[in-house]
Amino acid sequence: MEIHNGDSYNDNLLPCPFCGEKPIWYLKGNAEAVGKRRVITIKCPMCGTTQETAVLKLPTEMGCLMAVAKWNMRQVKKENK
Ligand SMILES: [Zn+2]
Repeated sequence: MEIHNGDSYNDNLLPCPFCGEKPIWYLKGNAEAVGKRRVITIKCPMCGTTQETAVLKLPTEMGCLMAVAKWNMRQVKKENK
């Protein structure tokens, strides 16, 4: 899995829990070098819902999985309410 700023192709990522729009990825920091301060942002372009996941020393791929899992958990939480 790979992130390019502005991508919204990730099929594992569920739609925005609030408006159903497909969210967009952003990776802040260095995509290549592990050990730098890096943050993966998943943002809904429609309602502006934003989730930031600090991936720090994790390989980018691991960080992606973490960010996706976090976003999808939020979705499930809302559905259970
Ligand atoms: Zn939204």
